[in-house]
Amino acid sequence: MTFPISLALPVRYPGPPPAAADVVVIGGGVIGVMTSLYLAEAGQKVILCEKGRVAGEQSSRNWGWVRQQGRDPAELPIMVEAMRLWQGLSQRLGDGLGFRQTGVMYLANADRDLEGYERWLPHARENGVDSRMLARCEVEAMLGTSSRWKGAMYTPSDARAEPWVAVPMLAALAVEAGVRIVENCAVRGLDVAAGRVVGVVTEAGRIACDRAVVCAGAWSRLFLGAHGVAIPQLSVLSSVAATEPMPEIYPGAAADDDFAFRRRADGGYSLAPGSGHDFFIGRDAFASFGAYLPVLKKDYRSTAFRLAAPAGFPDAWGTKRQWGDGVSPFEAMRILNPAPNMTLIRRMQDAFARAFPALGRPKLKTVWAGMIDTMPDVVPIVDHAPLAGLTIATGMSGHGFGIGPGMGRVVADLVMGRAPGHDLSRFRLARFRDGSKIAPGPAL
Ligand SMILES: Cc1cc2nc3c(=O)[nH]c(=O)nc-3n(C[C@H](O)[C@H](O)[C@H](O)COP(=O)(O)OP(=O)(O)OC[C@H]3O[C@@H](n4cnc5c(N)ncnc54)[C@H](O)[C@@H]3O)c2cc1C
Repeated sequence: MTFPISLALPVRYPGPPPAAADVVVIGGGVIGVMTSLYLAEAGQKVILCEKGRVAGEQSSRNWGWVRQQGRDPAELPIMVEAMRLWQGLSQRLGDGLGFRQTGVMYLANADRDLEGYERWLPHARENGVDSRMLARCEVEAMLGTSSRWKGAMYTPSDARAEPWVAVPMLAALAVEAGVRIVENCAVRGLDVAAGRVVGVVTEAGRIACDRAVVCAGAWSRLFLGAHGVAIPQLSVLSSVAATEPMPEIYPGAAADDDFAFRRRADGGYSLAPGSGHDFFIGRDAFASFGAYLPVLKKDYRSTAFRLAAPAGFPDAWGTKRQWGDGVSPFEAMRILNPAPNMTLIRRMQDAFARAFPALGRPKLKTVWAGMIDTMPDVVPIVDHAPLAGLTIATGMSGHGFGIGPGMGRVVADLVMGRAPGHDLSRFRLARFRDGSKIAPGPAL
């Protein structure tokens, strides 16, 4: 099976885009889609421009975990809201979303893992989340295998959903609410006059608007950089596989350092190396190296450094940083589709087979990878830009799928100048410039 969202998929939302809107949303991942939906429901005229296909990048390639467990304390209230929104969306859209509250489990290989989980638990209690520790024997009973795990942290109300089905369904809901989506429509830049946004320039012409939202995932740094707005965002390559149908060992999602798995609606598992990933060195990586030292110190062993990104990637050595109104790097790479790291995939298959010997080595039906956009403190930027009319919602740092509905609601309110209902100060853009200490979130 090839990956379900690719350029072979016919364009579902053709252009050209209308000439004007209240708000243009740049990027058709889960954040852009949900922001558009809530803006349209509030009566705004919204155009969402996607350079390739809706959910072609991270929003279809992720593991499908919808988790509260292990979140940064500032994200947790938004995630709790997101869980309620997922429940409502699932009632509206039905089983196709694949939303099921089947639990998330973090398995502990060492005592220090257990200690880390215990330190996080008070955040769950403060937010009414049902996370708890599991003893070794409880883990063995729930997963049906004896193992080396010392215990786990478990959140029964955490959930799963089917990314490459769910996000296109949510996009269809946004269209029903009045959003005009245009695929194959890269936004090349902003039209700025007298210090404020007066439109966006797309490959299919200009759209007049007085507000724009950058939800461009791994491309946000390149897009914003061309307008003088610097953000220290980088991307890491994360590899994933879908197995053939297998017996159900546990209906939810679980992970340790060696592998992560999530039961899928089709009877297989989405399997991934637990923490292993690849990182391409480029100009942005050099520029932001210092900012990432705190996270690197915590986790450099799981990173495989590679000297250069493939041509056309956001931080490839040859990627243009300025293009005026001409052809941009965005339309030159409609879908970022990195090759998975097969060494990591094979190791993960072996680790899974060792942990579940009764199941044998899992047979893989598809493998793929995604570029995870991340920030030095592993929490996003959700803020107004220092350019009137521009809002930024990016850098979801590997956990933006589950929180997508909550973030979309928050961003929509931010764009409309309404109180977002949560404290967003942790997500402010200025934290990277005002001398604040970079404090990485739990990234558990
Ligand atoms: C392998 C992997 C596993 C993950 N697992 C999980 C998980 O289990 N749970 C979880 O919560 N999160 C997970 N994540 C993270 C999650 O997928 C992302 O945080 C989330 O999808 C980000 O959504 P987004 O809308 O910000 O970005 P994206 O989904 O990347 O969307 C951005 C879109 O913007 C478009 N775009 C960019 N520039 C332009 C432009 N100039 N003009 C027009 N369009 C443009 C792109 O084509 C793209 O479609 C995972 C990610 C990966 C890659």
